[in-house]
Amino acid sequence: MSIKTIDPTLKTSPNGGGSLYAETVMIHPRSVKGKFRSAKWWVAVVLLAFWHLAPFLRWDRGPGAPNQAILADMAGRRGYFFFLEIWPQEVYYLTGLLFIAAISLFLMSSLAGRVWCGFLCWQTVYTDLFMLVERVVVGDRAKRMAMDRQKWNGDKIVKKTVVNLIWLVISAACGIAFTLFFGDAPTMLRDILTLEESVGTYSAIAIVGGFCFMLAGYAREQVCLYMCPYSRFQSAMFDEHSLIVGYEEHRGEPRQPFRKGSTFENRGHCIDCKMCVNACPTGIDIRDGIQMGCIGCALCIDACDSMMDKYNLPRGLIRWDSIANQAARAAGGQGKLRLVRTRTVIYVVILTLVGGLMVGSLASRKTTELSVQHERAPLFVQLSNGSIRNGYVLKISNMIREERSYALEVSGIDDVTFSVVGGPSNVTKTDLVIPADSVGAYNVFVTAPPAKLQGKRTALAFTLTEKSGERPTRVESMFAAPDQ
Ligand code: SF4
Ligand code: SF4
Repeated sequence: MSIKTIDPTLKTSPNGGGSLYAETVMIHPRSVKGKFRSAKWWVAVVLLAFWHLAPFLRWDRGPGAPNQAILADMAGRRGYFFFLEIWPQEVYYLTGLLFIAAISLFLMSSLAGRVWCGFLCWQTVYTDLFMLVERVVVGDRAKRMAMDRQKWNGDKIVKKTVVNLIWLVISAACGIAFTLFFGDAPTMLRDILTLEESVGTYSAIAIVGGFCFMLAGYAREQVCLYMCPYSRFQSAMFDEHSLIVGYEEHRGEPRQPFRKGSTFENRGHCIDCKMCVNACPTGIDIRDGIQMGCIGCALCIDACDSMMDKYNLPRGLIRWDSIANQAARAAGGQGKLRLVRTRTVIYVVILTLVGGLMVGSLASRKTTELSVQHERAPLFVQLSNGSIRNGYVLKISNMIREERSYALEVSGIDDVTFSVVGGPSNVTKTDLVIPADSVGAYNVFVTAPPAKLQGKRTALAFTLTEKSGERPTRVESMFAAPDQ
């Protein structure tokens, strides 16, 4: 599907000759009322509430454990998400979640176009909020445009200062909310407000808040047009059955202003009022066709519907529908919603598979991890009795909040024995106790008679058996020996 790459904010078309430089014009969309505008506010309220309140949700994990429901504990090297506790070596769960998020975005786009951009993206949510501030302090589109044109005077300085100060407060709150996911939120918030937090925390607030201020306050649609990669490849996810915001050209054209006393006979329903253009946060004219600049916010639908109501015309001159349905209506037929298509089925299958895999792996998740590192310097030592000794570093992670006892065994070579530095010597099995929620590191020397070895490398395995019944953890390694 081809999408026009018009930049609506350029005064001069790059192809229009003359200077290659075109100044960017600040877009001041007109406020509209309607079901999509209301939906956008509700979504924004839910998302902002989550962002600012989620760090304060509590989850009891027992004594000594953090009770914050969502926490990225960098010092403790853990991630907490309600009942889940993710250790650093389990970062693949995060990869799985990101993969699911990406495929969900693809599915969402192929079903309903850029619904993410128009309703759910942080850039959209904060830009909407910042524009609301401008609207309350300065006024709607006409007043904001007039203020931009007017020379600096007392009124302009005061209003611009107030707008920027409120933006700063919102941005600081955004930055603070971000940092609260990395520590105990109530304590951190108190320390931040009493200036007792670390320089690192204030730097993070400044960076996140600074980006919020610049992107939502000044860059706005430029982020969607130039910085976000998603708008560049969105067309690859659409097809003629994807629901997108579109103008019903067959019904709207030929457009012309409506004069008092005239009728809508032998003309289109578009009265060329440009309400749709003025309401558009990216400043495009949806009547020119699908464009890269359209973020699917549907505000032009609300704007146009209000005009249709005013002239007693059916709503939906601009509507959220598929290109196929639009073509069907243009030909005098009826459109039909087609959600089940090859690409949507493929996305759902991938989501089901990856989701199932993650749920399965979480359900069978082990709470013990064993890592075995063979020492390389030296690879082996020949003892005075002729036997060969290899050194290993074992790290045992006890991932629950209870002390646990494990039986360690080495297998794979006949007559093999091992010694734990600081523990038993020349044994075939020993018990190791790992404190709650910690990693035990051990230096282990394995000794084997040369006659039982198979050349320079012989396979052997370390097995940990947890006393309370968790299935054994086995790690394969190798035993090095000199050429025989
Ligand atoms: S054209 Fe309509 S849906 Fe697209 S960005 Fe503009 S107002 Fe939003
Ligand atoms: S709001 Fe509707 S009637 Fe007005 S210009 Fe846009 S499409 Fe035409």
